[in-house]
Amino acid sequence: MENYILHERENCIGCGACISLDEDNWEMGDDGKSKLKGSKDDKKEITIDEVENCKETAEACPVNVIHVYKENKKII
Ligand code: SF4
Repeated sequence: MENYILHERENCIGCGACISLDEDNWEMGDDGKSKLKGSKDDKKEITIDEVENCKETAEACPVNVIHVYKENKKII
């Protein structure tokens, strides 16, 4: 996995900003915290073309619990 989103889920406050910006990758969990769609380990592979949009979503997180890796380097 070279390009991916990493969610520090334990510190998510469930504000929903990530979901409103990117419904393809984010959804609300039953516990009131967001989660990465289709992920079981709070990590989700993305394409290189998705990196910039995912970075913008991460920037919108008020508690900075979304991280994006591009070619295995953390960019946020
Ligand atoms: S924007 Fe951040 S705090 Fe808000 S729901 Fe998404 S991950 Fe959680």
